[in-house]
Amino acid sequence: MNFSLNPQSPKTEAARQFLKTGPKSVLIGAEWQVLDDQFDTFDPATGTRLATLSRAGASHADAAVAAAQAALECPDWANMLPAARQALLWKIADLIDANADELAELESLDQGKTYATARFAEIPASAAQFRYYAGFATKIHGQTITPSIGYAPKGKQVMAYTRPEPIGVVAAITPWNSPLLMAAMKLAPALCAGCTVILKPAEETSLTAIRLVELMVQAGLPSGVVNLLTGYGHDLGDALAKHPGVAKVAFTGSTDVGRILLNSARGNLKKLTLELGGKSPAIVMPDADMSLTVLGVARGIFANSGQVCVAGSRIYVHRSVADQFTEQLAAQADALTLGHGLDPKSDLGPLVNEQQAQRVARYVDAGRAAGAEIIAGGTRIPDAPAFYRPTVIANVSPDMPLMREEIFGPVTAITPFDEVDEVLALANDTDYGLAASVWTQDLSAAHRLSAGIRAGTVWVNCHSYFSPELPKGGFKASGWGAENNAAGLSNYLEEKTVCMVI
Ligand code: NAD
Repeated sequence: MNFSLNPQSPKTEAARQFLKTGPKSVLIGAEWQVLDDQFDTFDPATGTRLATLSRAGASHADAAVAAAQAALECPDWANMLPAARQALLWKIADLIDANADELAELESLDQGKTYATARFAEIPASAAQFRYYAGFATKIHGQTITPSIGYAPKGKQVMAYTRPEPIGVVAAITPWNSPLLMAAMKLAPALCAGCTVILKPAEETSLTAIRLVELMVQAGLPSGVVNLLTGYGHDLGDALAKHPGVAKVAFTGSTDVGRILLNSARGNLKKLTLELGGKSPAIVMPDADMSLTVLGVARGIFANSGQVCVAGSRIYVHRSVADQFTEQLAAQADALTLGHGLDPKSDLGPLVNEQQAQRVARYVDAGRAAGAEIIAGGTRIPDAPAFYRPTVIANVSPDMPLMREEIFGPVTAITPFDEVDEVLALANDTDYGLAASVWTQDLSAAHRLSAGIRAGTVWVNCHSYFSPELPKGGFKASGWGAENNAAGLSNYLEEKTVCMVI
């Protein structure tokens, strides 16, 4: 493993200016306001303070909900023609593209991910969300129905139709691992449906959310349609999740907080989509194309330093190729260069903060103490508190926390298997059900395993392939509902039936 931590600063003038001006504001209705209560956000690689943010609480949640409710009724938004809504969403996508260099630098600095990941994967994917749902804005239709009702007054007929209507005010609560993309995945379908939104980004990584909302205002979004509150989950997030004026919470984050939200949403039975944690298996069959598989599996676990909900953190390898695969995966892990996300030499950046690196170390150290064998990595880096080395572990028993819990770091466990039925049982031996990958040239094995794995997405000969067309949701404790696709839009619509005698 190579490590070098060279000082980095943003190259775009726009990112430099954004960081220089502060403290940052929240947006409630038409008004950007700097709040008295504030908190800081840091560059995880160096611990340097990047910016000071306004810290909103329950009273700001009340004000933002009121602004969002007013905007829901406002003719500029409620009566906006579908083609105009389409053009607005497309314009937001264009503005994301036009500011992609700045957004990527801010994302890399604030979250730690490499500039390349932000600039060439996540920022374009965020623009793609707005373009995809721009297309849907002109295609939201109800149905005309002739019901089998025979008791209408003589000489009359019964006819009915449905009206898909916006669900109302949405609280969009997002995590820190892919901040802009997670926000875009909620904002684009919510606005396409005609909802209004209060965006609450994760407290660790709010910078690109602020810039995104600025760009949305620049695109011409009517006041109050999108509100932005920065702050903490336990007070601000909680206030939004419990608020009687919020009709729906669109949440991506941990399964633990997802469980809390079930309770928070009880008061007004608000609708919930929950995109939660995972412990995704990668299954390597004996006939897998080894060079493609090693690369693909390595990317599947180490990308974004393992802070990916679908990270392949459990690898099951057929015994006949286990030694060869393990050796090559360990070599891949060892060959990665760690450093500052903005340093073009870095393959991986730090974790989101020191606490996350400590959490990863606790899992690995406990596994080591319980007899697991560290094949690669397994340590933090001296004087670089938020970094953790890409780690491959063997001899991990099915009951170890290392195998059962989401670590959210660059750590994977390899287990050999002999039979297809055996590996299917191992893959499904988890509370989670987010994703899986199968690596094989054998069509029967590919289909059999894809059908048998209890997870929202199964990839064959690839891992972490995403696109707005592909529904993305979790089975079991990995969540409720899916994002992307027409399914993602339906989360923000409710269908009213109108039945009449004519
Ligand atoms: P987290 O659950 O700690 O926080 C997510 C968001 O919830 C943050 O904005 C936080 O402030 C807020 N929050 C915290 N407590 C709250 C409360 N009581 N009420 C309301 N809001 C509250 O998650 P995280 O650590 O930011 O992100 C990592 C997690 O996200 C991992 O578990 C990962 O698997 C998951 N994730 C899932 C997907 C998916 O699509 N399934 C995608 C990305 C990340």
